[in-house]
Amino acid sequence: MGYDINNIRADFPILQKQVYNKPLVYLDNAATTQKPQVVIDRISSYYSSENCNIHRGVHYLSQEATAAFEATRAYVAERMNADRKEEIIFTKGTTESVNLVAYSFGRKVVKAGDEVLVSGMEHHSNLVPWQRLCQEIGAHMKVLPFNDAGELDVDTFSSMISEKTRMVALAHVSNTLGTINPVKEMTAIAHRHGIPVLLDGAQAIAHLQVDLEELDCDFYCFSGHKVYAPMGAGVLYGRMDHLDFMDPYQSGGEMVDKVTFDKTSFNEVPFKFEAGTPNVESVLGLEAALRYLDRTGMQDIIDYEDDLLKYATEALQGVEGLRIFGTAKNKTAVISFLIGDIHPYDAGTILDKLGIAIRTGHHCAEPVMDRFGIPGTIRASLAMYNTKEEIDYLVDAIQKVRTMFI
Ligand code: PMP
Repeated sequence: MGYDINNIRADFPILQKQVYNKPLVYLDNAATTQKPQVVIDRISSYYSSENCNIHRGVHYLSQEATAAFEATRAYVAERMNADRKEEIIFTKGTTESVNLVAYSFGRKVVKAGDEVLVSGMEHHSNLVPWQRLCQEIGAHMKVLPFNDAGELDVDTFSSMISEKTRMVALAHVSNTLGTINPVKEMTAIAHRHGIPVLLDGAQAIAHLQVDLEELDCDFYCFSGHKVYAPMGAGVLYGRMDHLDFMDPYQSGGEMVDKVTFDKTSFNEVPFKFEAGTPNVESVLGLEAALRYLDRTGMQDIIDYEDDLLKYATEALQGVEGLRIFGTAKNKTAVISFLIGDIHPYDAGTILDKLGIAIRTGHHCAEPVMDRFGIPGTIRASLAMYNTKEEIDYLVDAIQKVRTMFI
């Protein structure tokens, strides 16, 4: 039947909302995506008929909830092409996933004098945990620069690896520049030196087909809420040998095998990393969201969004005085820009009054702003339900902003 944008929009109830008596134009999808009815229904049906703590009870409800939770793990593993379902750990999101790796893996493999290599376009979530690790241990965090278009250079990456490099952490897709980084090539280079690679897939998961076997990374992180799923559930994929080798991140119930006052032995992977009661309804909602994408057709979504990005880029480039930050050849879903010397916050406030939800500021990537010597940008980030009409409306609204300030 092809990609029916009207049907898709009808699946997301919030898109019918009016703000300031104007139709909502939601262009803040990199911050969080809206949820289709199937996801909302999944949460509701969980609480109406399945709610129970998991992995603990012998009774019917607990077994049913546990089975649904574990089925989601198996589904995520299969969808991402992981070797085993145990390699999927449920966290509360990308931030927790990266912190878990920096804590439980980083502290075992990085020693004083060693190096951790990150890129200059990381979200703070994939930067600060590594910076803290390095500061604590006396290691050095090296930063791979990007060019004016917002691209990483594979040869420069290769030249920055040394015999002291113990870990590489990279964004799959940049949340400020939209760049799709050559992470497969970079991972292969790091692996030739025996260095493990963590990929931050927070901005990739909704816009790309993520295949772990193809990427061959050691760790992959994403947040459910950025892929049409509820807040509070995310994924950490880790290679089984690493997960086995790692110490637990948090301690408490569920992650233990045997506890006495003298000694505690730990549960097996993945439960070793899932201390306490997980966000069961969000994990089940994540499955509903991913299945919704698969039913719609991931390749159709990618093609639709590529076309929309091209359309939006050309339309915005037509606005006098508008500068786009992030013009990589390989890009998805995000357009960061400034209009003349209008402060992003001023522009954002006016666009808001016109019904446009758009992000302004440094987008939790302050070093990217420093690299361009700007305080922040206005960021339009696209999703599967946005339309060319919304882009036209945005461009008209930006023209209004210009006439007010210029
Ligand atoms: N990494 C990137 C690239 C992101 O865009 C974000 C969210 N803006 C995060 C990490 C953090 O995600 P969360 O807040 O869901 O943990």
